[in-house]
Amino acid sequence: MNFDLPDEILELQASVRRLSQEKIKPRAREIDATGEYPQDVFEAFRDAGLTGLCIPEAYGGAGAGILGLTVAIEEVTKYSNVTGLMLLLTRLPTGPIMIAGTEEQKQRYLPGIAEGTTRCGFGLSEPQAGSDVAGMRTRATPDPDVEGGWILNGLKCWMSGVVQADWYTVFAKTGDPSSRAHDSITCFVIDRDTPGVSVPRTDRKMGVRGVDTGELLLEDVKVGPQNVVGGVGGFRLAMFGLNAMRPIVAARGIGLAEGAIMYATEYVKERAAFGQRISDFQGIQWKLAEIATEIEAARLLTYRAAWLADQGKFTKEWVPHLSMAKMYATEVAVKASGIAVQMLGAAGYMEDHPTELWYRDAKQLTIVEGTSQVQLGLIARGLLNHDLWWD
Ligand SMILES: Cc1cc2nc3c(=O)[nH]c(=O)nc-3n(C[C@H](O)[C@H](O)[C@H](O)COP(=O)(O)OP(=O)(O)OC[C@H]3O[C@@H](n4cnc5c(N)ncnc54)[C@H](O)[C@@H]3O)c2cc1C
Repeated sequence: MNFDLPDEILELQASVRRLSQEKIKPRAREIDATGEYPQDVFEAFRDAGLTGLCIPEAYGGAGAGILGLTVAIEEVTKYSNVTGLMLLLTRLPTGPIMIAGTEEQKQRYLPGIAEGTTRCGFGLSEPQAGSDVAGMRTRATPDPDVEGGWILNGLKCWMSGVVQADWYTVFAKTGDPSSRAHDSITCFVIDRDTPGVSVPRTDRKMGVRGVDTGELLLEDVKVGPQNVVGGVGGFRLAMFGLNAMRPIVAARGIGLAEGAIMYATEYVKERAAFGQRISDFQGIQWKLAEIATEIEAARLLTYRAAWLADQGKFTKEWVPHLSMAKMYATEVAVKASGIAVQMLGAAGYMEDHPTELWYRDAKQLTIVEGTSQVQLGLIARGLLNHDLWWD
């Protein structure tokens, strides 16, 4: 057993740490205040080769895998959760293509993401169907004029990066619309400029501002058989992409938690009350020690989950391990950001310090890509099936 990160990942960590301190830390507050897409940060990521981190070398990427992306996201999210989301979006919509796509789809869609010339979005959620994916109403019906073609109609919502995306991975019912079977759902890749595709609205949200979240409307969108990812009814295969994402979302959690606690730790060493530094109070020290332990536990779960995903261990029997990382790390982020606000007192509540921003930004993480409750359900199912340590 070896707990050391490989040398090339350590080098990546050091370089992304420098980039984050130089380019992201000074911009985090402004990105939140304006809500404008940080094109400068995207270009810095592109120039540093980070947009292609998890894309295989054969398609122009760095081939650093889920672990590479996890470590990079942890570093950038120490200062800005939304920049972690920008890197995450190089993997979320490309996942189904990398895992289940055809060679032609890989050649067409992956190099642009790796080079930072295109962006993409992931359309699973619908207004009435978030956790309950099988309740989706977006439909794809066979195109009578094109052999193997489909016509899509429906509304996706809360899609991250919906405005900036050049293409979307979208899920639609191809089987019986009332069916809850997974093979009634198919994954499609859809170019933004396909007739019938539009973005009718974007959301006003409490945090993670700078990358728009919004709706994608599909009105009689015609696509060919080359747009089907993982075969008709191949939802299960495409969902492996989501399983493999758990450590990447978890990385945003541990990065945010580390950033918040690093900041609070420096503050309590300076702040005085009752004639002494507040860091000398045992109550403050124990609180920091406890959350530091939880962050380290979350890091171990997250790195292990990234390692599992890179071994191709994202199928059903590995789900509990992947879900534990996502659930625990994101809950730790919420807890750590709350502790940071509390340790700064009134100052922590004001915009003079980044703590209130971390506090607002953290909450998104326990909701996206499977809420904490959904992850608990998956962990429990694995436990009941003896997929964990069991005699
Ligand atoms: C900022 C942001 C960005 C997002 N980006 C994307 C994106 O890019 N693409 C995309 O497709 N979606 C995206 N989403 C949507 C996100 O994936 C969904 O919000 C999430 O899956 C939860 O669905 P819901 O909001 O409909 O909640 P619901 O499913 O309505 O759940 C409401 C509450 O009930 C709980 N609940 C539901 N089912 C159960 C159960 N079986 N047992 C116990 N509790 C349960 C949930 O945990 C939650 O607390 C984004 C959301 C946010 C906030």
